[in-house]
Amino acid sequence: MRLSRFFIPILKENPKEAEIVSHRLMLRAGMIRQQSQGIYSWLPLGKKVLDKVNNIIREEQNRAGAIELSMPTLQSAELWQESGRYDAYGKEMLRIKDRQDRPMLYGPTNEEMITDIFRSSVKSYKDLPLNLYHIQLKFRDEIRPRFGTMRSREFMMKDAYSFDLTREGAEHSYNKMFTAYLRTFDRLGLRAIPMRADTGPIGGNLSHEFIILADTGESEVFCHKDFVNFDIPAENTDFDSVDGLKGIFDKWTSLYAATSEMHDESAFNAIPEGERLSARGIEVGHIFYFGTKYSEPMGAKVQGPDGKEHFVHMGSYGIGPTRLVPAIIEASHDENGIIWPESVAPFDVVVINMKAGDEACDGTCELIYAALTKAGKDVLYDDTDDRAGTKFATADLIGVPYQIIAGPRAVANGEVEVKDRKTGARETMTIEAAINRFVA
Ligand code: ATP
Ligand code: MG
Repeated sequence: MRLSRFFIPILKENPKEAEIVSHRLMLRAGMIRQQSQGIYSWLPLGKKVLDKVNNIIREEQNRAGAIELSMPTLQSAELWQESGRYDAYGKEMLRIKDRQDRPMLYGPTNEEMITDIFRSSVKSYKDLPLNLYHIQLKFRDEIRPRFGTMRSREFMMKDAYSFDLTREGAEHSYNKMFTAYLRTFDRLGLRAIPMRADTGPIGGNLSHEFIILADTGESEVFCHKDFVNFDIPAENTDFDSVDGLKGIFDKWTSLYAATSEMHDESAFNAIPEGERLSARGIEVGHIFYFGTKYSEPMGAKVQGPDGKEHFVHMGSYGIGPTRLVPAIIEASHDENGIIWPESVAPFDVVVINMKAGDEACDGTCELIYAALTKAGKDVLYDDTDDRAGTKFATADLIGVPYQIIAGPRAVANGEVEVKDRKTGARETMTIEAAINRFVA
């Protein structure tokens, strides 16, 4: 992509409304634009990152055996009257009437709709287990939308829903998602700590929030300090192995101390003083086993091996991609801007032409741009006539992991500079070596 033909509306000034660094950097780097309170457009640079985040989420959901579908944003109120949540949901739900005066709503979540899809077609235990997910916009009329897309009113969610014949089956489905989440956040360059969460009236201990440590987070974290360092399940993990996944899960519960919601002080105090961690964090995912809470009132049942009908055991599993993008920035930035992990960077590398219009610089940059693009790299080529200083500032701000800098003096020697955005290290090398550095 040539920067001269792309659309990155960089802000020179620090936006006054931004209270936290990720919000400030997303606005300054031209990633998002607020359209009305808590409702955002994702501009091209932001959209590229969001797509990469969604693709990693999708790959790990698929690996764990979940199946993607797409459900609408607008839902009929009737479904929610069946579950009893239409009245219970309160003001966070945006309620709309269509031209026939029928009550509709902009979905804040999809348990009811997925249960309806399930009950309309699945009748036998032989079709279980089943886990369906989508990545879709949600709307919650939050009292205090803030911090940009970190807590917005319209936001994106990956929400998966599992269906099983028995509680034991549902626990295995839960452990699959638990394992998939550990892998997902790791691939996004994040350490997300699974914290046991309150299950409310349903009871049991099967709910976890995944929290990234950050001073600006809205959640409190109390746990054993070893919680922050852990092994990530391998790509070839056998998701069908009930004992294998239970092993991964049990490792966690044995480390478990307490969570913000449970305020389990005694568990926290039982940890030796030097081993306690008390910090703030951002909730980026939430998984939940809720048994027959929706299947009973909505009549979602299957015939079991005993020939009788059974209400299915369900779980739901959410991740917020539009919250994850700022969370990644909170975890990875410096005073000059964003530092993207390679897995979600909007571009793999940026080629900076320090003297556009200079024949040797133009020729060198075009050569590198063509070679890397041909090799399948996503390259941003800064071919604008901005001053070199402006170009460096832009490249640092938007956080592309590597910069190839072509200035007249180096180019005259057949050389360019390669800069690592994260470490700041710069290395002069031949044009060929620079290309091989990314192609090989
Ligand atoms: P919170 O406590 O932050 O309001 P929640 O418990 O309401 O979150 P869930 O209903 O569990 O959230 O939704 C699943 C995921 O969706 C969350 O872990 C988060 O990543 C994301 N999410 C929820 N609300 C928002 C929001 N207002 N803006 C952006 N992302 C959100
Ligand atoms: Mg909420």
